[in-house]
Amino acid sequence: MKRSGKTLFRLSLAAAAAASCALPSAAASGPARSPAAIAARAYRAAHEVEIVRELAGLLAIPNQASDAADIEKNAAAVSALYERRGATVRLLRVPGAPPVVYAALDAPGAARTVTFYAHYDGQPADPRQWTGEPFRPVLRRGTLESGASELALDDLAAPLDPEWRLYARSASDDKAPIVGFAAALDALKSAGISPSVNLRFFFEGEEEAGSPHLEAILSRYAADLRTDAWVLCDGPVHQSRRPQIFFGARGTTGLELTVYGPNRGLHSGHYGNWAPNPIVRLTHLIDAMRDEDGRILIPGFGDDVLPLSPAEKRAIAAVPRIDEELEKEFGFARPEGGGASLVELIHRPALNVRGISAGHVGEQAANVIVPEATASIDFRLVPDETPEGVRRKVEAFLETRGWFIVREAPDAATRAAHPMIARLAWEGGYPAARTPMDLPFSRAVVAAAERAAGGPVVMMPTLGGSIPMYLFQGGGKTPVVGVPIANHDNNQHSANENLRLKNLWDGIELYATLFAEL
Ligand SMILES: [Zn+2]
Repeated sequence: MKRSGKTLFRLSLAAAAAASCALPSAAASGPARSPAAIAARAYRAAHEVEIVRELAGLLAIPNQASDAADIEKNAAAVSALYERRGATVRLLRVPGAPPVVYAALDAPGAARTVTFYAHYDGQPADPRQWTGEPFRPVLRRGTLESGASELALDDLAAPLDPEWRLYARSASDDKAPIVGFAAALDALKSAGISPSVNLRFFFEGEEEAGSPHLEAILSRYAADLRTDAWVLCDGPVHQSRRPQIFFGARGTTGLELTVYGPNRGLHSGHYGNWAPNPIVRLTHLIDAMRDEDGRILIPGFGDDVLPLSPAEKRAIAAVPRIDEELEKEFGFARPEGGGASLVELIHRPALNVRGISAGHVGEQAANVIVPEATASIDFRLVPDETPEGVRRKVEAFLETRGWFIVREAPDAATRAAHPMIARLAWEGGYPAARTPMDLPFSRAVVAAAERAAGGPVVMMPTLGGSIPMYLFQGGGKTPVVGVPIANHDNNQHSANENLRLKNLWDGIELYATLFAEL
């Protein structure tokens, strides 16, 4: 990674010191709704069938990032959508990557530019796991789980029930904002309201593939992409269904960790308690790195964690508590965390064991001491942690415990020379990032979102998931704020992904307000 966490730290402090006003918050009755939101609601009510059809049309184009032909079709469709709205559209390309669709719409007299991000690619979809087909959008009268029936998309008549859901890959992640922005532009135009800022739309085509060319595109087109702020429109609203604004995202890195026993499977009766058992070694090693409450036990692991600001602590305390409901929904009696809430835990680093592979169970179980055992681990990083820092601390920890670290499978000489061998394969990953909540831009987004919703919004200093937000920050200078619209129960990344219409309707009002009032 090119940027050190320290730069951001200083900027955050400077920004926090410069900001004197308190964050806006809604009075008990809620703020007055913005004219833009009111106009967007009226426009939507009159055009909801065509908005749903426009989204369904986009969803019918398969969009896995690795399928170049499909991706180009998506890019062409998204371009056409914004050309129809009078935007100047370009495809930003670097070799071997899906293009970014970049649309520009200047506002008369506007001094500032705000860039809205969404992505048009989607996760792979296995049709065998879907009810229906991933790329044949279906509108249902509610959720599939409740047995809701299908409606014919070409035979719809308004008003549509806002609890109806549109099912298709990318309905919520992340084509909904692409059509939501367009509908918001239409609504403002029909009400004669001009945007208050120059609008830019940046639609990535390989987010679900891990954004391998995002850095290259942002740097190649840096001059064209100059902006005063970014608004990232990806991910779900809060589980309480209240709108959610996030100011940061956790970073990530991953590790495959293999430990070794004998060089071939050995009879557990003849050699048990004598030949080293790699499965036991591995599970003990994991225990030494992380306790059952999720606390990371690796010395120094928390040293780089930037303390939360008073505004961030207040925001976390104000997040509606949904832990008990979620425990029921997900079927467990007691969470990890030693009494801390989900939102508090999201603001700490995490070590997650995502898989263990060794030996066999069930019918394949054999009384044997196996040669090796592998754990796959993902780390979630908070500011100012970096993947390099995590790697250094994990490796130092292993070495102080007597592990000999190798990068390839050990040969016979290495096995003979070292009693404890750990093979490490690290993923790249990226650092966490956070925009101070008390920057003028952050406060403006919160105020606009409250005027759009007519009530308070949930403010998340850091999102639990990881997105490479640091790339958009351009070295920490540009504010980046996340404004998602999808329902939390959208089956993101799995089968039967869906979008609740109410979330799209609310999103259109939110975007119209941001366009008109930032
Ligand atoms: Zn997404």
